[in-house]
Amino acid sequence: MRSLVWFRRDLRVDDNTALSAAARNSDEGVVGVFLLSPAQWLEHDDAPCKIEFWLRSLEALRDDLNELNIPLLIRTAGRFDEAPEALLSVARETGCRALHFNREYEVNERRRDATCVEHLEAAGLSVQGFTDHVLLEPGEVLTQAGDFYSVFTPFQRRCAGLLRERGIEEAARPSRQDPIRLPESGAVLKSDTLPSVLEGFPRSGIDPGLWAGGEEEAHRRLERFLSQKVAGYEDGRDLPARDATSRLSPYLAAGVISPRRCLRAAVKANGGRLEGGHPGPEQWISELLWREFYQHILVGHPRVSMHRAFREETEAIEWNDDDEQFAAWCEGRTGYPLVDAAMRSLRTTGWMHNRLRMVTAMFLTKDLFLDWRRGEQHFMRHLVDGDLGSNNGGWQWAASTGTDAAPYFRIFNPVSQSRRYDPEGRFIREHLPELREVEGSAVHEPIAKAPLLAGGLDYPSPIVDHGKARERAIEAFKAIR
Ligand code: FAD
Repeated sequence: MRSLVWFRRDLRVDDNTALSAAARNSDEGVVGVFLLSPAQWLEHDDAPCKIEFWLRSLEALRDDLNELNIPLLIRTAGRFDEAPEALLSVARETGCRALHFNREYEVNERRRDATCVEHLEAAGLSVQGFTDHVLLEPGEVLTQAGDFYSVFTPFQRRCAGLLRERGIEEAARPSRQDPIRLPESGAVLKSDTLPSVLEGFPRSGIDPGLWAGGEEEAHRRLERFLSQKVAGYEDGRDLPARDATSRLSPYLAAGVISPRRCLRAAVKANGGRLEGGHPGPEQWISELLWREFYQHILVGHPRVSMHRAFREETEAIEWNDDDEQFAAWCEGRTGYPLVDAAMRSLRTTGWMHNRLRMVTAMFLTKDLFLDWRRGEQHFMRHLVDGDLGSNNGGWQWAASTGTDAAPYFRIFNPVSQSRRYDPEGRFIREHLPELREVEGSAVHEPIAKAPLLAGGLDYPSPIVDHGKARERAIEAFKAIR
């Protein structure tokens, strides 16, 4: 039998569960397919820089598959509802009798997959989905009452227990197969070429060198992080001016590296332990489990995929709708330097440091009191690692509307955050050239603390008074309790 492997957010050969199973079960070879869905991706607010990264990673995947004589076909199914027919026609063209894919967990993706399974099975194909994008299948990690966890710490403990019991197994790499010949003509099936741009996605202008595509780069990052940075991760991970984190998020989000590969390497760096051990690797393992947690939430609480709050009572909040303040936040001109530097770094690099995602999200939802959904969408439209589970989880955490969310009365002071996490103002000066001449700690509050310079600075006064804004947010949350 010959099998079709449908690649989605698993753009790799290494430790790819569906690919490995297909290679094992198919005596007449494996064919790969990827469906470009630009209209659907636009609807999902996927960022141009992320699509560019996917295309670069697809190119690397195609080259890696070519080495194994596995052709990668590229087809277009503009929207997800075109996927079943597109897959069936590829299967017929190439003589494939089975379809293998790794599962995705967002609502639209799950609906698409259910329709594809139904359509292809009805046409006589055997179809199999696999757990791969996560360490454990959502639905396997449940409370004693049989519910999905809504708090991270017990979820983490349960995951660690299950992973210890089962081990962290990796999928075997497929071996080189004989070239695939087309059923009718007998011609050798070749991989398709990839488009360099897609309709609806303008060039992002972000340096492709920042996010090189392909698994070789992902493995290089993992190796460099574990050999040079993980020991200091616990202390350095909150300081955006330091390059102290792995910057693997785009690779994990697109499946250019597997979470098992990352976890196994981290456990090894932690002397074989999933919990306890050295604080650096232990903390990093915990971040991988945060990613896992938010994927499970997508399945346990699908309403978060549909723009709804996890904590339903917070739907009653009447958010501010000031478009000018929203624009100032997006463009990095709020008058709070750390917030502005972070927002400008997002535009120039397609990525933002975790501490700054927390600070900017808290600022939008508490200081400006704007709806978290607006911020979530803006992030999605600009992030190279945009991922519904983690992005929604992070936003609902900051807005105090989500699982394990920040308590509504614990509101970051953007100036204190700036003093604490960018004490020398290095990050601020890197991204806000107009503040490079401001000396010392005045950089955290230039208009208030460098008044003589202020007249000459091309930098705005704070658009909101933090103290008053904090009161307003607390009162609004109290009102819905
Ligand atoms: P490291 O510190 O090296 O961590 C390793 C990996 O663990 C990351 O690559 C990521 O996959 C995972 N991880 C780390 N922190 C978190 C976290 N808090 N939640 C979930 N997973 C985590 N992450 C995304 O991948 N995509 C998003 O769209 C996204 N949006 C976010 C929005 C907000 C408002 C917030 C507060 C966080 C968001 N995060 C998102 C989580 C986190 O900020 C990034 O994963 C992290 O900054 C990526 O950098 P890194 O790869 O160097 O992480």
